Amino acid sequence: MMESALTARDRVGMQDFVLLENHTSEVAFIENLRKRFKENLIYTYIGSVLVSMNPYKDLEIYTKQHMDRYRGVNFYEVSPHIYAVADNAYRSMRTERRDQCILISGESGAGKTEASKKVLQYYAITCPASEHVQTVKDRLLQSNPVLEAFGNAKTLRNDNSSRFGKYMDIQFDFKGAPVGGHIINYLLEKSRVVHQSHGERNFHIFYQLIEGGEDDLLRRLGLEKNAQQYQYLVKGNCPKVSSINDRNDWKIVRKALSVIGFTDDEELLNIIASVLHLGNVQYGGEDSGSAYITTETQIKYLARLLGVDGTVLKEALTHKKIIAKGEELMSPLNQEQAASARDALSKAIYGRTFTWLVNKINGSLAFKNASVIGLLDIYGFEVFQNNSFEQFCINYCNEKLQQLFIELTLKSEQEEYEAEGITWEPVQYFNNKIICDLVEEKFKGIISILDEECLRPGDASDITFLEKLENTVGGHAHFLTHKLADGKTRKIMGREEFRLIHYAGEVNYNVNGFLDKNNDLLFRNLKSIYLSICLAKLMEILMSKEPSYVRCIKPNDAKQAGRFDEVLIRHQVKYLGLMENLRVRRAGFAYRRRYETFLQRYKSLCPDTWPNWDGRLVDGVSTLVKHLGYKPEEYKLGRTKIFIRFPKTLFATEDALEVR
Ligand code: ADP
Ligand code: MG
Repeated sequence: MMESALTARDRVGMQDFVLLENHTSEVAFIENLRKRFKENLIYTYIGSVLVSMNPYKDLEIYTKQHMDRYRGVNFYEVSPHIYAVADNAYRSMRTERRDQCILISGESGAGKTEASKKVLQYYAITCPASEHVQTVKDRLLQSNPVLEAFGNAKTLRNDNSSRFGKYMDIQFDFKGAPVGGHIINYLLEKSRVVHQSHGERNFHIFYQLIEGGEDDLLRRLGLEKNAQQYQYLVKGNCPKVSSINDRNDWKIVRKALSVIGFTDDEELLNIIASVLHLGNVQYGGEDSGSAYITTETQIKYLARLLGVDGTVLKEALTHKKIIAKGEELMSPLNQEQAASARDALSKAIYGRTFTWLVNKINGSLAFKNASVIGLLDIYGFEVFQNNSFEQFCINYCNEKLQQLFIELTLKSEQEEYEAEGITWEPVQYFNNKIICDLVEEKFKGIISILDEECLRPGDASDITFLEKLENTVGGHAHFLTHKLADGKTRKIMGREEFRLIHYAGEVNYNVNGFLDKNNDLLFRNLKSIYLSICLAKLMEILMSKEPSYVRCIKPNDAKQAGRFDEVLIRHQVKYLGLMENLRVRRAGFAYRRRYETFLQRYKSLCPDTWPNWDGRLVDGVSTLVKHLGYKPEEYKLGRTKIFIRFPKTLFATEDALEVR
């Protein structure tokens, strides 16, 4: 009998990493993940954090029956599941009247977007509803295919990769019915509109329109039913993807658009078609070097679709505005400059359309005076061969989230100890504030220095920015450049790179394009949002809510079911800071349970508590554990819960239950 309990644990692993005997061992951590993955147990806790492995196959764990199983049930009483996280957040919102947020992180293809969809579906199906609510639920659910059509693309790592960060609030009324929503999008990867790497595609919507668009619609837009015809769609040499049915998705997206309330999506489609036409605008060069347009048909369509004058458009695509002696002049561009002006226009048009779309969705979901549950779906730590401004932003954001995470986890641990009247034992942990400061500190952080260079007239360039960094933060322990490095490191660092030593590891960033890209954002900021302010706003939103965490892991790069690539997984465990999570969580007591739950489960192991204990619960538990031979240093009794320090104590008790 004792055997069987051990074997079961041995086979399926621990459903909470906190219960691992050797909790500091990364090997044991990975082994536990492997065991569970093999058994299709994709969810595991670290305390209240959910670790989720992408199974790359449909599992029968998302049915209505499963949803019912998690409703109103305590976290620990059922096996780990995304529904448990969703339900727990919902109940806290209802009972404690506190806004919640669910933070979903992980690298591309790890299952973040799927997880957020599961949460949304859980609420849509399990929450109370009325007629009005049904419309809102539909709109909430239908906002997904629309956002995915315009904001997702096939990449090497994920056939349906979100190329933007998303924060979504689901709003609930006083009865707990979902009544509205609000979406904040950030960091859309606009460069994809004009260029894709080999094996990748542009945003889905372009292919959907070309493949699925009705004949008369395409005729009106001046488009041909062949993606190969469009320069912006051929860069990655990958027009078709086996897992994607563009024609079918087109129908789904059109329907979703109408549910959200786009009764007339003509304008939207005009813009999408315009971007494709823009991509096909070609240039020739005059003897003087000035560019001229060789493709009149495109201009004709563009003028009509965008409602602008053809001559004005042509001038805009071949000239730039300069101010000389106080006068505005149009100065001609050469071929190369004109092509990049054209691409910049395409990116700007697409970026604005995306923002407009999100605003429109928000308009259709707006509701006031509600409690909210937020869903944050964000890229995890990113490290490529060549890392640019985008990775810098993403990694900084992750650095901030990690800081927030550690702070809040420690805080909630401390609060629980306090509430239970148990002495707090300080925890040693790596505080990454030092790195956040390096990036964000006013006047002397990397972002400030970058802004300064962007605003400085004269010879400011990516290289002067790098030099300024060297002069200002060169002495910082988490910063390095080619010039500052010594022998071995110097060899592997480019001259145009700086290195940050993030909590998750070292990343070299190439400064090429930093000023331009920052300028672009800065420019937008004058009207709406700037990255760091966006980010600050995001932090503010998160700080004001009670967070739950979902950490997603991708098991292999081949998008295959059942394949456990240890090297890749170890890498993610590191970048998600999971071992640090576990350390903080295990610093004190591995296991804690409310007295009634504990007594209910184990009362049969002691004659004094069986079949019933009449006195105070705490006395019953005390009697029980003394009878079981718990040593004083192994446990503590709080106001409502028992705290057990080591997993082995608990396992011995569990085994005793089996033996009986
Ligand atoms: P991310 O948003 O992290 O980049 P996605 O959520 O888009 O990743 O997931 C990538 C793909 O992995 C999905 O299209 C789906 O095929 C698969 N996948 C992710 N999570 C699950 C899951 N829980 N069950 C089944 N398949 C999943
Ligand atoms: Mg995604």
